[in-house]
Amino acid sequence: MTGRKVLMDFEVTADSHTLAAYRARGGYRALAKALQTMRPRDVTQEVVDSGIQGRGGAAFPAGRKWQGIDPDDGQPHYLIANADEGEPGTFKDRWVLEFDPHALLESMLLASYALGVRHAFVYIRGEYDRPWRRLDAAVEEAYAEGLFGENILGSGFACDLFVFRGAGAYVCGEASSLLGSIEGTRAYPRNRPPRMTVRGLYQAPTVVNNVETLASVAWIVRNGARAFREIGTEKSPGTRLISVSGHIRKPGVYEVELGYSWAKFLHEDCGGLLCNKALKAVIPGGISSAVLTGKDAKVLTAGEVEDLTLDHEKLRAAGSSLGSGGMIVIAEGTCMVRLLQIMLRFYHHESCGQCTPCREGTGWMHRVIDRIVAGQGRPEDIDTLYHVARFNDGTTICGLGDAAGYAATAMLDNFRDEFEYFIEHRHSKFGGNLECR
Ligand code: SF4
Repeated sequence: MTGRKVLMDFEVTADSHTLAAYRARGGYRALAKALQTMRPRDVTQEVVDSGIQGRGGAAFPAGRKWQGIDPDDGQPHYLIANADEGEPGTFKDRWVLEFDPHALLESMLLASYALGVRHAFVYIRGEYDRPWRRLDAAVEEAYAEGLFGENILGSGFACDLFVFRGAGAYVCGEASSLLGSIEGTRAYPRNRPPRMTVRGLYQAPTVVNNVETLASVAWIVRNGARAFREIGTEKSPGTRLISVSGHIRKPGVYEVELGYSWAKFLHEDCGGLLCNKALKAVIPGGISSAVLTGKDAKVLTAGEVEDLTLDHEKLRAAGSSLGSGGMIVIAEGTCMVRLLQIMLRFYHHESCGQCTPCREGTGWMHRVIDRIVAGQGRPEDIDTLYHVARFNDGTTICGLGDAAGYAATAMLDNFRDEFEYFIEHRHSKFGGNLECR
């Protein structure tokens, strides 16, 4: 058991994703309660009081983001659920979309009511086929029962929902970039300010929230902010969905109460490491998790992980973050040079090319690491990687350029001896292994 639950508090069966099953476990009661007894601002206040932080990566307080919109300002407002879960190692929102889509829909109705939104969107990654089918079927069920459209539950509140499928670009998971994708322009990340709550979709105030963040709102409104705050820690209330992959016996999606012991999670709940290997390192929250904490951020080494708890404050203090909730477990014997090569290839491929440091820098780093892995590395390559990585820091529009640099410096800081060995001997210290053998 990984502590108390907010989202995974029911047994998944063949039909537990349907409207009937959702209603049977109390679904849409929060919506009825809000429409009958709460003003829109009361719903926002409940979310503020819950202290829930965004579950997509930045951990920004969701309620504060909502407070950036005045529901009575007479302008159109938009709400977007960001379901473009493209961060490597992250597949936890997929669980909500497949197994509890009505929790997301009810929560989006509550958010739309709170924010004065008439048209809401789910931006779902194109690769998510079954999650899209499940979500689409849930939207149809909800419309058939009068939960979307005009005069919802006889309250006079009206809201329509559109499901928009992305086309496979990682950068569209960046909140400002997906606006362009929906608008039909090139999906380039946008400079801030202005914040999206000032000028977002179609130039109107817009809230973009991660799927898990939004899906928790129905629970918060149904049970109250105080009940939510009783779960987790004082500074990190609630739970996190964590998708675990890599060299682990029981990979999958887990809901973990914030503050839970990391060692217990890995060694007991997730069954320990494959092949009875020792833990070498953990990438805690998707390969870009380092971006959130700046240049000191790092991949966590085995010793650090054993003493940590899963919450924002402890991870921040350790120079890392829970990021997007995609935990990648790395066993002893893994070649970190090859692992960094894969990460840098990914960033280079996914750079949108808008900023020179990111467009050129990811390409340079990719070429240097390729040269090292090909056995043609030069002693100065390590300094070159550091130099290019640091040049990206803070000079780009979105976090992709930073993240690529932080991935390189984190690996070099923690495993420099492996890079030196590879360059000197022209082969990997660990045979280039990425699998557990
Ligand atoms: Fe595009 Fe990279 Fe600049 Fe982000 S940092 S806007 S991905 S070029």
